[in-house]
Amino acid sequence: MLLSYSVESSTVKFSNTKSNNIFSSIKDTNKEIIIQERADELAKEGAVEDQPENCVSFSEQKTIIKALMRPRTNRDDYHTMSREQQVNLIRLRTGHNRLNAHMNRKFKLTPSPTCACGQEDQTAEHILQRCPLLDEERKEVWPSPTPLQTKLYGSRHELEKTTTFITSAGLIV
Ligand SMILES: [Zn+2]
Repeated sequence: MLLSYSVESSTVKFSNTKSNNIFSSIKDTNKEIIIQERADELAKEGAVEDQPENCVSFSEQKTIIKALMRPRTNRDDYHTMSREQQVNLIRLRTGHNRLNAHMNRKFKLTPSPTCACGQEDQTAEHILQRCPLLDEERKEVWPSPTPLQTKLYGSRHELEKTTTFITSAGLIV
């Protein structure tokens, strides 16, 4: 079958295959238009209904969106832990915690950023790695020296050691 289309003065002939392609692409375009029109209708219907109260703050929304966009492989064992363990770990990881260094520098809520041992600022790294006041508890959990990276971002087993240490040291992070 041959189809003839008159385009301005010239006549373009299409083979059977070509014309089928054209018809199917026209059909697809029509389908898209129908879908788009339906989406617009639904959007209009939705817009006149009462909107649910949005209790999620802008920064929370950003965090949620970022977490959802993050590739699955970037999620670590942290996500399999209890809520309390997660809170402790995230505070240690981010430095947004109740240790003296942050409380003093950020909020002026402690008189000094220094740890009770007097040697350094009380940071997550200091308590996990070096504070002499916590030597005993540290050796109990980590008999051999362990990098900070492992303690904060290691396997679930490693992360559990970290939260155990925080609990046994009686620290509130
Ligand atoms: Zn200390």
